[in-house]
Amino acid sequence: MIRSTVARVDLAALQANFRAIRDFVASEPRTIAPSQGGTVAPPPPEIIAVVKANAYGHGAGRVALALEQAGATMLACADIEEGIVLRRAGVRLPILVFGALSVSDLDGLFEYVLTPTISTPSAARAVQAAAARRKTTCPYHLKIDTGMNRLGFRFDNLGRTLPGVLSGAHLRLEAVYTHFATADDPDQPLFEQQRLRFEEALRHVGATVRRHAANSAALLRDSRVWYDIVRPGLLLYGIVPPPLSATIPLVPVMSLTSRVVAVKGLRPGEAVGYGSRFSSAAPATVAVVPAGYADGLDLRLEGRGHVLVRGRRVPVVGAVSMDMMTIDVTGLDEVQPGDEVVIIGRQGAESWQQIDVREMAAAIGTIPYEIVCRIGARIERQYA
Ligand SMILES: *Cc1c(COP(=O)(O)O)cnc(C)c1O
Repeated sequence: MIRSTVARVDLAALQANFRAIRDFVASEPRTIAPSQGGTVAPPPPEIIAVVKANAYGHGAGRVALALEQAGATMLACADIEEGIVLRRAGVRLPILVFGALSVSDLDGLFEYVLTPTISTPSAARAVQAAAARRKTTCPYHLKIDTGMNRLGFRFDNLGRTLPGVLSGAHLRLEAVYTHFATADDPDQPLFEQQRLRFEEALRHVGATVRRHAANSAALLRDSRVWYDIVRPGLLLYGIVPPPLSATIPLVPVMSLTSRVVAVKGLRPGEAVGYGSRFSSAAPATVAVVPAGYADGLDLRLEGRGHVLVRGRRVPVVGAVSMDMMTIDVTGLDEVQPGDEVVIIGRQGAESWQQIDVREMAAAIGTIPYEIVCRIGARIERQYA
């Protein structure tokens, strides 16, 4: 049984985006950072494909397996629970857990072979103790805080904090990383400061360890922060983080469609929906679409968002309610129950016959990340 509102996830587009990103980071000439020494050009960066938050709403298991097949080096998720979901879906690649571990149950790390990020001294002690109990060694990635001021060892205190971590007999440092706070804002000097602080931090950890820093925005901006591995999330899904633009040929991976379930004529002055906020002095026609805020469609779409029906762009009018919303189809007399409604995606070949996630996000004053992550659990993902 399938509801009318469906998210289609194009795994071939996802894999094409992966390859396009891989080609992009392989083709740019790279500045060889001082810490790398030598004059030999480094090999092209590998890719940690970020699939946290149910693969940005696209469905973690299927997306992860498609990225594994496409050649990702590693996958990354937010916490141990997400890592377990990936393993249960059959993922065999190494999986990096980004999040903090201090209050987590660490058994999953070992049972499901997940690679933790160690970002605090207490996490280092906890993982070290858990690995010792199991008489094993735990590979980990070390996170340096270069200015985000969230997780990670402070860049300016490493001489004091790192020796205890690096000497852990049951810990094996596999890579060191940082995360940029303002990679999507070219006017912010912090990006460059973070880059330099990371360079400095690398001197504390030894020459052989692998390094990574670049999320989607940083990857687009500056090849100096590609290091050995890049960590794109949003770009994989075919979305460029605003306000940046990209020359990489990316294809949107998700579309969201529904069907008209009812068409209603409004007499002059009659209003539609909670709060009776939409009415018209002239006769109007609204169509009811069975998708609402329980499906992740934001309340702020009212009066701001558009959908496509019969190849036309029409506005969302009246309150978005829990399970449905209404669109103004006045003048499109032929609209009838069963007609396809495109909420995200394309309906025709013209440029205006596409509603992309960036447009929707801009219309309601949020970021594309939030739109895709919030596509509701009730909506079936169909994979092609
Ligand atoms: C989410 C995340 C990424 C990917 O970010 P995008 O902007 O989606 O490319 C990379 N690194 C870390 C640590 C993250 O949390």
